[in-house]
Amino acid sequence: MSLTSLTIENDFVDSLPADPIRENYLREVQGALYSFVEPSRAGQPALLAYSEELAEELGLTTSDCESDEFLQVFSGNSMIEGMKPFAMCYGGHQFGNWAGQLGDGRAITLGEIRTQNGSRLALQLKGAGRTPYSRSADGLAVLRSSLREFVCSEAMHHLGIPTTRALSLIGTGDAVIRDVLYDGHPAPEPGAVVCRVSPTFVRFGNFEICIAQRDVKLLKQLTDHTISSVYPTLAKQAEPQKYVEFFEEVVDRTVDMVVHWMRVGFVHGVMNTDNMSILGLTIDYGPYGWLESYDPDWTPNTTDAGTKRYRYGQQPWIAQWNLLQLANALVPLIRETKPLEDALNNFPALYQRRWEQTVRAKLGLEELGDGEVSIVNDLEDVLTTVETDMTLFFRALAKLDSAATLTAEDPAIFVEIAHYAPASITAKRREKINRWLRNYAAVIMRQNRDAATRIDHMNATNPLYVPRNYLAQLAIDEVEKGNSTYLTDWLNVLKKPYEEQVGYDQFAAKRPEWARTRVGCSMLSCSS
Ligand code: AMP
Ligand code: MG
Repeated sequence: MSLTSLTIENDFVDSLPADPIRENYLREVQGALYSFVEPSRAGQPALLAYSEELAEELGLTTSDCESDEFLQVFSGNSMIEGMKPFAMCYGGHQFGNWAGQLGDGRAITLGEIRTQNGSRLALQLKGAGRTPYSRSADGLAVLRSSLREFVCSEAMHHLGIPTTRALSLIGTGDAVIRDVLYDGHPAPEPGAVVCRVSPTFVRFGNFEICIAQRDVKLLKQLTDHTISSVYPTLAKQAEPQKYVEFFEEVVDRTVDMVVHWMRVGFVHGVMNTDNMSILGLTIDYGPYGWLESYDPDWTPNTTDAGTKRYRYGQQPWIAQWNLLQLANALVPLIRETKPLEDALNNFPALYQRRWEQTVRAKLGLEELGDGEVSIVNDLEDVLTTVETDMTLFFRALAKLDSAATLTAEDPAIFVEIAHYAPASITAKRREKINRWLRNYAAVIMRQNRDAATRIDHMNATNPLYVPRNYLAQLAIDEVEKGNSTYLTDWLNVLKKPYEEQVGYDQFAAKRPEWARTRVGCSMLSCSS
């Protein structure tokens, strides 16, 4: 199939009310869910990366993806027949406060296409210029943030975590001005456009804006359409039960997504309600980060450094708070709050149950007996007593020889690969680690699972390769110098994150000292 023979569908646009104004200027949009808008031109587009697997799903071959036509379409320079590009109107709670109308300020959806397996996926350009929702910003995206979004969304997919996907990363050849540190030193940077792909880009904020405008009719149209397009099994349900089950389903998927984040040490960084997908997909990769040294209080986002609202350990409760905002928006459709409250109140138990299962899977343990729960309860204490790389710690545990651990004088050496400063661990802290390791080894021996099966299960739960913050920075440095080999190698390794790949230790290595304080490696600003 070639690019021009792709059949474009426009289900969202054809089913839902559009903003009647066609000109591209900033405005408040009422009574409509989106505005038509053309992408801006990219001066000199260059393909930097694309996802072969996703392209294949969409029916595109390697030569399609490497064609000039692909470059022109996915940089925003030309359209495939049938595309009706638009930007969505949504609102959102940002850092806990209602922020009013936000909308796709730099995202333009081109249309939808049917995949090989019959499902429908929307294609969206991020960084292709101003829209009616750009507010004071330029609608553009810099290469560093686009590369980070491309890599992480594909990595998340291969990790088995619900996410929007990324088809392509294209340098625009145009400069974008950004003040990275927000310290009054704006400078030009290379621009880029990512083509994101998802069954839907609808967020909690799309529902919130309808209700902020007291437009229940619009809310109902959006909700009915969302249900029929991405929750079709609920579509035949009677009202208002259909809306209750819809909300329950969103709760369920959101819990699932956050449990996955916590499993791999992902910190989203900007869990505003406009960044919460209605399908429970990880969306809007901005100043996200990966726990290197385990720290439940860590947030990668410099804008969040004050209150650390979006820190790792708080993500489940922020997800619940965000669901409360969605519930508030859905009340007019259900006309009573009880079923929504019940679904929300179910969140902690649902989360706790799945999280406990996940922790046991990470540790390779079966159901814990009396006196064994301390293994789980004391885990965080052990991970935080000295600087410990979360990813490497769990991989090291899978390799632990239980008998040797029980008899060793200093079993901490078996997990030393995960410690950032092994030589400076005090005797007291060493003893804490050693005590936990001996208890752990004793439980493993008592449970007596087949070792090979246990290790396989652990390694299938604990990835070895995650898109570490400093690796992303190294890839950015290389691509900015015109070299994409590092990026290509890294993307290949990230396709099999649970499998040890010979010769690629560099992509599993813990953060080097130089990266501790370098901008882009430890903390990230929202400037993107
Ligand atoms: P975020 O929290 O980064 O997902 O963005 C919050 C809001 O700001 C969304 O409405 C974005 O579309 C908008 N936004 C972020 N960056 C830009 C930009 N460079 N140009 C226009 N709008 C932007
Ligand atoms: Mg956003």
